[in-house]
Amino acid sequence: MTIIHPIPFPVAAGNPPPAGHFAFRCNACGQCCNTPPLLTLDELLRFETRFIGVLALRRVRPLSGDFTATDRAAQADIDRALLLPAPDGEALQITLQAIDYPSLQRCPARDDAGLCGLHADHKPLACEVVPLDALRSDRLQHAVLASRQDELGDADCIVPGQRDGHAPLADATDVVDPAYLDALYAHRHALAADKAHWGRPLYATLATELHAPAVWPRIPHDGFFNLSPAPLIALLATRSPQMLERCLQFVDAQLQLIDATVATALARKHPADRPLTQQLRGYADAYRALRPSLARASRTPHHA
Ligand code: SF4
Ligand code: SF4
Repeated sequence: MTIIHPIPFPVAAGNPPPAGHFAFRCNACGQCCNTPPLLTLDELLRFETRFIGVLALRRVRPLSGDFTATDRAAQADIDRALLLPAPDGEALQITLQAIDYPSLQRCPARDDAGLCGLHADHKPLACEVVPLDALRSDRLQHAVLASRQDELGDADCIVPGQRDGHAPLADATDVVDPAYLDALYAHRHALAADKAHWGRPLYATLATELHAPAVWPRIPHDGFFNLSPAPLIALLATRSPQMLERCLQFVDAQLQLIDATVATALARKHPADRPLTQQLRGYADAYRALRPSLARASRTPHHA
């Protein structure tokens, strides 16, 4: 899913956001499923044997360029709801992301026919909103579609105006397809819940480390900086005995998946895989370092 997010906003000054209507028809070509998706916490846990999850961080600048005051206000509302305040007037997106080897150029949930293997199993909300972007206001989805039309040109799924067989999706100020509106709102609701449940407290825990001069500039605006989810799992494990047990199960599932994924990569011997192998080993080490303390907490008498 990397090729279609994040949207390269802001649009440069003097280059007005594209206005107009867009229509859409997905022919299930799979072009936008060439990397794994962003995940909510619920999805990270639900797909623990399918996706290797990481914490993914991105710095976000305030909207700039030739947008109206109404556009800016609508986007500011979304930013306030879904992002965290960061230094220098920027915001920080802390999310979860599935990862896999770039040499494979596919989401691990794609089946042999190239179709989504999770389609009938509540695929991730980030996938349900494609080709829209829940982090952009409804008023700016036409600009999202203009950007993605360029990226997905071969698929011919997003077209300006109208076309037979394509359904109207957005006009210059709104999303006009009710099913897509529902999907956008469901995704935003889940992201806001994640921000409150773990994003804000985790950022408070990691702020000193993240704001260090050696780290903060490495968090990009046009991509994601990945971290081990171990600090998140450690945080969640303190919430309740049930969550502690769930975290132990999750750690074991991820260790098993990472080990199997690395073993397959080593057999494949693709030079482009080496950096991710190193990263995955680091994530496994972090889980192995965390697991004994979770297991000890699980065995304490007051844990029953
Ligand atoms: S690229 Fe377009 S047509 Fe192909 S799967 Fe994605 S949304 Fe559907
Ligand atoms: S989960 Fe399904 S829809 Fe989402 S990127 Fe993977 S294959 Fe595509």
